[in-house]
Amino acid sequence: MSDATSISSKTIEDFFCDWESQAFGYGYGTGEEHTLKVLKNLSDAVEWNESGDNYTYDYQKIEKMLGEQQTWLLINILCGNGDIEYGSSPRYGWFYGRGKNLINFLKQHTVGELYDMTSRDSGYSHCFSDYCSCGYEQLHQRCKNNPFWNDNNNFELIGMAKESL
Ligand SMILES: [Zn+2]
Repeated sequence: MSDATSISSKTIEDFFCDWESQAFGYGYGTGEEHTLKVLKNLSDAVEWNESGDNYTYDYQKIEKMLGEQQTWLLINILCGNGDIEYGSSPRYGWFYGRGKNLINFLKQHTVGELYDMTSRDSGYSHCFSDYCSCGYEQLHQRCKNNPFWNDNNNFELIGMAKESL
C-alpha cells in the first residue's frame, strides 16, 4: 500500500480510518469488529429529521436497541469527539454536519467493509488532531480535509450521502 500522503490520494475510506482512530483507536485488529458493530447499530437506531437536516435520537430507543451500557458508552465517546450535538441534555441529541456525514457513511457500509477500512499496515499515514499527513502541516485543529471532522467539507467524497446534497 502507498503511504497516501497527498490530499488527492486520501479517500473517504482513509478519512473514516482517521476518524475511527481518533474516536476509538485501541482495537488493534481485535476490538474494531465490536466497536464498529455498535456504531453500525447506532446508525440503524437514529431517525432522519427532514426539517432539522439532521439525524436525531431518543436515548430510550437507543437503550432498547443497544442496551444501556453500550448506549451510554457511545454517547459519552461521541459527544466528547464532537459527533453528537445536544441542547440541554445528550439524552436527546442529534447528528448534524460532520456527525451526519458519519451516520450516512455508517449506514452505507457493512461492518466488514468498515473493518477493512480501519485495518491498515504501518505504511499508512493517519491524520491526527494536531497533525495533517495529507497536507504535511501541524494543526491546532483536526485535519480540515476530513468530512467526519468538519461540518461542510468534501461532500463530493460522500456523494452517496443523499441527505447532504
Ligand atoms: Zn489531513
